[in-house]
Amino acid sequence: MFTSTRNKNVEISASQAIKQGISKDGGLFIPTEFAKLSKGDLKTLCKKDYSGRAAFILKYLLDDFTEEEINHCVVNAYTKDKFGENPAPVKKLSENSFVLELWHGPTCAFKDMALQILPYFTTVSLKKTGEQKTVLILVATSGDTGKAALEGFRDVEGTKILVFYPTDGVSNIQKLQMTTQEGENVSVCGIFGNFDDAQNGVKKIFTDKEIAKQINDKNHMFSSANSINWGRLAPQTVYYFSAYCDMVNNNEIAMGDKINIAVPTGNFGNILAAYYAKKMGLPVNKLICASNRNNVLSDFIEKGIYDKNRSFYTTVSPSMDILISSNLERLLFDLLEGDDKELVNLMTSLKEEGKYQISKEIYEKLSHNFYGGFCDDKSTKETIKETFESFGYVIDTHTAVAVKVYNDYISKTGDKTKTVIASTASPFKFCEAVLEGLTGEKENGEGKEFLLLEKLSEKGKITPPEALYSLKDKKVRFSDACKKDEMAEAVLKML
Ligand SMILES: *Cc1c(COP(=O)(O)O)cnc(C)c1O
Repeated sequence: MFTSTRNKNVEISASQAIKQGISKDGGLFIPTEFAKLSKGDLKTLCKKDYSGRAAFILKYLLDDFTEEEINHCVVNAYTKDKFGENPAPVKKLSENSFVLELWHGPTCAFKDMALQILPYFTTVSLKKTGEQKTVLILVATSGDTGKAALEGFRDVEGTKILVFYPTDGVSNIQKLQMTTQEGENVSVCGIFGNFDDAQNGVKKIFTDKEIAKQINDKNHMFSSANSINWGRLAPQTVYYFSAYCDMVNNNEIAMGDKINIAVPTGNFGNILAAYYAKKMGLPVNKLICASNRNNVLSDFIEKGIYDKNRSFYTTVSPSMDILISSNLERLLFDLLEGDDKELVNLMTSLKEEGKYQISKEIYEKLSHNFYGGFCDDKSTKETIKETFESFGYVIDTHTAVAVKVYNDYISKTGDKTKTVIASTASPFKFCEAVLEGLTGEKENGEGKEFLLLEKLSEKGKITPPEALYSLKDKKVRFSDACKKDEMAEAVLKML
């Protein structure tokens, strides 16, 4: 069963949680219990391919889905056509560090790992709950979620999707990916503001009673494809198990050995999935949380104080330009052992004062599991250069943040535990900054996106993904932008 982080009296099934996205009290849905896999289970897992591993793990995270339903979702999502031979390959970087490439899906970012399967979860959930209404998926994006959600939900029966993105907060390629999106049920709208404005606007629309009535009258209901939706997090736990199995199978570790996991973090979704994998029995030592210059999370892990009263920076790793990390609420609920009253206090304090402090006891639990660090744009670019020079391997700006914070962690602790670094995007999504890192020359990509793809291909000796290259011939379909207080109108217009 699932409950709400802000009200433990809520009791719903996985299919309801996925359909609804967020609880009416503003809380997030979480399972009331996590299964713990045994060593034997892990051994079984290691013998399977990615889809087999996904089906095995997901049955523990989607209580009311039948095995058949889960298989249907998995088999249709992780096809060779969309992800190639292996959706989440592990590449060895150095003796102790490994990169988990999560960007082999159709939109070249890790969001595909969840957003290709979420639409299948959604249609199964609609059927299971006897829903007759059309689901309107609202998305706030810092760049990658928007495209991945559009691609996942395009022309999926019973759904429509509307994406809001900050007009000046995404890369040129990201913007093109979204504004050229095909499909009959899709729409895209820019916001004059940053990601937090977009996310707050969407959250407000979700809980607005007047809008709820209007869309209900038109036989629609809202849902979310952001990582506040459980259907996003569940599939993300799978690839951490899968990486572990690959390392066992390649004799890099022995079954039962602990690994570290380093994750470039924004909304705290991807790293939370790693924490849940640990809770489910994956042998994990430290979770290394890497922030960019918007270092609200690494500060929190260091000091136990979450404080969003600070400047917001637009960085070269835009998918992490966030000051309100929604999924941290789920971690807090877990560390508080389900004390929903205390959690509501913290969230109220965040809303009213922009900050909160956790108790010493909770802080100790947090530091036991997590290490936090951050990296500015200059070090991000330097890390891209160093990684290429040392290993002949090109990383994107987000992955570079994680590599840098991991290197700092090693310098500080001398920890020799083998570490999986989540690589969250193809470097071709962020050509300008990656090239600047590699060559030291400033690039202006406006209007020259495809030239830069070629340049990076040459310099890095890598092939640009066809999905990005083919944007060249696509027509821009969406050029609307609105103020942050006009988002509701954009929603009503789409009805
Ligand atoms: C979304 C995103 C992140 C941050 O992931 P969270 O789950 O929000 O922490 C990091 N890197 C890339 C490339 C992303 O698209």
